[in-house]
Amino acid sequence: MSLSSANDALTGALLGWYDRHRRILPWRAPAGRRADPYHVWLSEIMLQQTTVATVKSYFDDFVARWPRVEDLAAADLDDVLHAWQGLGYYARARNLHKCAQAVAGDHGGRFPDTEAGLLSLPGIGPYTAAAIAAIAFDVPASPVDGNIERVTARLRRITEPLPGGKTAIQAAARDLTPSRRPGDFAQAMMDLGAMVCTPRAPKCDLCPWHDPCAARAAGNAADLPARAPKKAKPTRHGVVFWIKDAKGRVLLRRRAERGLLGGMMEVPSTDWRDDPWDKDEAAGHAPLAAASWEGAGEVRHTFTHFHLRLTVVCGTVTGGDGAEGTWVHPRDFGDHALPTLMKKVAKAALG
Ligand code: SF4
Repeated sequence: MSLSSANDALTGALLGWYDRHRRILPWRAPAGRRADPYHVWLSEIMLQQTTVATVKSYFDDFVARWPRVEDLAAADLDDVLHAWQGLGYYARARNLHKCAQAVAGDHGGRFPDTEAGLLSLPGIGPYTAAAIAAIAFDVPASPVDGNIERVTARLRRITEPLPGGKTAIQAAARDLTPSRRPGDFAQAMMDLGAMVCTPRAPKCDLCPWHDPCAARAAGNAADLPARAPKKAKPTRHGVVFWIKDAKGRVLLRRRAERGLLGGMMEVPSTDWRDDPWDKDEAAGHAPLAAASWEGAGEVRHTFTHFHLRLTVVCGTVTGGDGAEGTWVHPRDFGDHALPTLMKKVAKAALG
């Protein structure tokens, strides 16, 4: 069989399976219809590093509040960050808002229909551009998410460990992408990876690619894709100051726009550094001087690149004038965009 007819057979088998077994997802169009680019974009941004099950309710909530991209563009950024709470990576929510404004303001409310056009928008990288182009506009683009990466590595038995193996996997995925129904093909690969070609125990007996799959034939499907050993994450340390005023309000401040948890509210803290802090040294970095600092335990949190240990100390001040930030009663914390880390701090301080 020639290479192209072999690929046609693979495509046909997978699309036939997809027509029978496709997942029903809130952002997907019914069979034979094109999905709304706004829905595809929103779901793809939300799905980065988060599961489909988690994203469903967030997606429904966003679309109910902001039915069109123009509505999201006109929304207050704080409302968007607030609605995003629990999805992590707030830079993504900020870019989501910027992107909505770019589409509404510069593109007349219509998403560009090419990968290059989509790539020019804030917060859209090569994967997301390919996913939107394929799913919303049926462009023969090759988005390679974790599911497609796994399915492709196994089908073609690509054994080079990740991340180095990504190049070969992406080339193989491109080679598989058909010109007919490329959007359905991409979604079929995603569904196959989610439902059949699962990470630990692929259900090869149920797979439309059982016969042509090279890793299944070699007996090492569950070991692919291989991964290079991970480097240990460093641990950083900080001291966080839970400062109450006479009315029981707590000092919060907004983090810098750029960087980790950019623009989110926080309980003030020292820098986060490699060495643990001495209590007296840390006290010199408090935004206000309290008569004494009471320990309230330690909060642990893990970011993508490091573990964080924050020692929580509580103090009371009588004044509070001149402090940079906002005084908020803990019962009103729900009105502010507090990241998960800061919710943990509040829980420790409130006992
Ligand atoms: Fe994955 Fe097995 Fe299908 Fe190969 S045969 S693609 S390993 S489920």
